[in-house]
Amino acid sequence: MISVTKKVIIIGAGISGLCIGAVLVNHGINVEIYEKMSKVGGRTVSTIFKNHILDNGFHIMPFYKKSALYQVLQLLNIHNLLKLSKVSDIFFYHEKEFFKYPKGLMDFLTLSLLPFRNRFQVLKLIIPMAFATLKQSEKKDHMPLSELTKKLDKRSNSFFDAICMLAFADTQEHVAVGEFIRTIIKANPFRGGTSEFGYPSEGGYDTISKLLAQYITSFTGSKILVNGIVKRIIIKDDKAIGIEKSSNSLSSEIIKGDCVIVSSPVYLAIRDLIDQNILGKNFIKNVNRLNKSTSVIETHYGLSKNIEKKQRQIVFPTSSSSTVKGIFFISNITRSVSPKGEYLLLAGTPVTRSEAYSSNYKSIIKEKIKKDISEIYPNFENCLIWEKTMAWQIVESVSKEPGLVWKQKMPHTIDNIKGLFFVGDSTISYGIGTDAAAHSALLCYPKVLSFLNSD
Ligand SMILES: Cc1cc2nc3c(=O)[nH]c(=O)nc-3n(C[C@H](O)[C@H](O)[C@H](O)COP(=O)(O)OP(=O)(O)OC[C@H]3O[C@@H](n4cnc5c(N)ncnc54)[C@H](O)[C@@H]3O)c2cc1C
Repeated sequence: MISVTKKVIIIGAGISGLCIGAVLVNHGINVEIYEKMSKVGGRTVSTIFKNHILDNGFHIMPFYKKSALYQVLQLLNIHNLLKLSKVSDIFFYHEKEFFKYPKGLMDFLTLSLLPFRNRFQVLKLIIPMAFATLKQSEKKDHMPLSELTKKLDKRSNSFFDAICMLAFADTQEHVAVGEFIRTIIKANPFRGGTSEFGYPSEGGYDTISKLLAQYITSFTGSKILVNGIVKRIIIKDDKAIGIEKSSNSLSSEIIKGDCVIVSSPVYLAIRDLIDQNILGKNFIKNVNRLNKSTSVIETHYGLSKNIEKKQRQIVFPTSSSSTVKGIFFISNITRSVSPKGEYLLLAGTPVTRSEAYSSNYKSIIKEKIKKDISEIYPNFENCLIWEKTMAWQIVESVSKEPGLVWKQKMPHTIDNIKGLFFVGDSTISYGIGTDAAAHSALLCYPKVLSFLNSD
């Protein structure tokens, strides 16, 4: 254990900042987390709207209790404080029929969405992936999934198109085979994985962030300062020695630390927080290559009746003519998100970042999504109490595109600046969203400990 006099400054109280903060605190380090928003959670923050708990867009924990995020909670021995509802009633909707999302080999063999011949074709591709090694997956980090599936017929390809939605990608061209393989490995029960998902039973994905924040602040000397806007990272003699934080609109405060960890998307952080001359043009160019986030437009709906009578939790419409790509019945996952007698539904579609900026496009998509839901659930508009449409430019801060995944993301350290670390879903890690953010923290914290030990 390192002496408690060491102090680590963390910029951002999203999943990655909180995960690394909590693990460091667990190793006897004092952490000070500065969060510019008024609450913790970052992109996973939840709010109350008309007595419903709304997440910041649809949020579930990939790989349920096998996720890197859950692994962090286990490491801290606080996993039992999080009650998770299982998200496993997932369906495809195709030509007026529902098909159960395959959770394993047997489900897949009986997946009538695909004719038997196609199921066999798809399995021939997926089984070797499920048993591949991490090293083998890395060799395919430059290859788009479409390259592998181009020989399959349209029907089999539609299956891969549908599961791209779960990987936050709009098309197969935008998913690296390597990343796809790692997802299949994590979902393989024969290797200790699961294809199930989890969601906090008490409602609100930010329950997880609050739990981590509570853990951090329960240690004397560690704190989280919300509304704490960091203006700049102070670098002296090639070493990060602290930060400059806004005190009010006119003044700022210098806070010193033994090292600084940045947890916001790296291409934003290097633009906003670090002197560009220190970084050099090539470095900046290399980081800006990652500036390709995934984006979505989604609408939350409050309903007076549960239109999904069979209690399905998620429905993925697979028809290419359908704008809506995911329909999420949040109150079928846990009733605690809605007041008595009301129900919560969320539906959305992936868009480009510029489409997410356009309010005109947002209204067009909003109407198309409503029309698509009504076709599947004719009672939908009759039960509608309120709706709230939102667009997110940054869902994952990097896309899953070939050349931008796993080790091709931002490293956790920079060679020429000591004591400066990077975590978050734009840094070396794999998995979906919060899983990648937590994974980055698990990979980075030993580097921070080793630096503090040697400093
Ligand atoms: C609509 C939507 C749906 C999603 N669905 C899922 C899902 O189903 N499952 C899943 O696993 N993931 C999902 N994600 C992705 C997931 O939310 C992110 O991958 C994850 O939360 C990223 O965490 P992070 O810590 O890397 O970054 P962030 O959450 O962005 O945290 C960075 C923090 O730094 C703070 N910050 C930035 N600059 C400063 C500054 N100058 N001073 C102080 N603080 C600063 C920010 O306010 C923020 O709190 C979704 C995201 C969105 C938007």
